[in-house]
Amino acid sequence: MKKRLAAVLTLLLAALLCGCAAQPVSSQSFALDTVVTITIYAGGGEAEAQAALARVDECEALLSAHRQGSDIVFLNGADADENVLVSPLTADVLRAGLEIGEKTGGALDITLYAVSQLWDYKSENPQVPDEAAVRAALEKSGRGRVCVEGNSVCTGGTQLDLGAIAKGAVGDEVMACLKERGVICALVNLGGNILTLGEKADGSPWTIAVDSPFGEGYAGRIEVGGGKAVATSSGAQRYFEKDGVVYHHILDPETGYPARSGLASVTVIADDGLTADALSTALFVAGEAQTARILEEQYPKVGAVLIRDDGSIRILGDVCFTEEAGA
Ligand code: AMP
Ligand code: MG
Repeated sequence: MKKRLAAVLTLLLAALLCGCAAQPVSSQSFALDTVVTITIYAGGGEAEAQAALARVDECEALLSAHRQGSDIVFLNGADADENVLVSPLTADVLRAGLEIGEKTGGALDITLYAVSQLWDYKSENPQVPDEAAVRAALEKSGRGRVCVEGNSVCTGGTQLDLGAIAKGAVGDEVMACLKERGVICALVNLGGNILTLGEKADGSPWTIAVDSPFGEGYAGRIEVGGGKAVATSSGAQRYFEKDGVVYHHILDPETGYPARSGLASVTVIADDGLTADALSTALFVAGEAQTARILEEQYPKVGAVLIRDDGSIRILGDVCFTEEAGA
């Protein structure tokens, strides 16, 4: 009996070691307007990575404002007082987006679609929208007008843009999908929204680079354990320049114009992807003083790396950040 137990344990140990020592499997797709990479280090392989990418596609089919047939496209075409039944995921993401909007004093507003559509960063010849158009589009926003009860949503005449939170939310779905399939060690990257699963085989922390918001290269790196989500919002991620002025994609819900808060980049480290993604956008809008207050009062377990417009850096919370030499 003892011998059999020893043999089973040896086999188990060998299997575990094999799992960890094997070459990682990495699969990629383009979804949510960005590159999605799933890298599995242990507890799975190609099949699990493909299942995770399929989950990303399913989520995009619900949450995208640009994919025909999605819950969001449907909601954005609904009447102001219409109650629309959506998938449980969409309802959960909307509820979370509204709650974070509340907790950040309105810095996150998931009803900015009409405004964000005016800022065409992808055009060959992008234009600054005229003030009247921005004002009219702002009239259509207002997170307080949205009502979510169970899986029933009423937009109150607003139009939804989940661009600030969808990647993080989908990251959480991917994590759940990988865990369900027995994956124990993986790294998920949805266009810079990074999620870690498990500990690395050599026991070292996961190292995540933070891009410099001032051009090429890195501002530094963050070390985290497993089960963390790291998201960065930066004016450099999507912008155009007109007459010497940079217009980036993170909007101040008060004005409808790019937020000028004194911050060039905000990286958030949280326990889940949605919170990291939503807060990185919201805190970028809120600015440094509000950020410190919001984290202390509302999110004491969340950490952040703020890079100011002058390049100086402030760390908030329990974050292991190493600045890149010469950055
Ligand atoms: P992120 O890259 O996660 O910071 O999200 C930026 C995207 O979210 C933009 O491209 C817009 O689609 C949308 N967005 C911009 N400003 C806001 C805001 N203040 N609140 C919510 N969504 C926003
Ligand atoms: Mg975000």
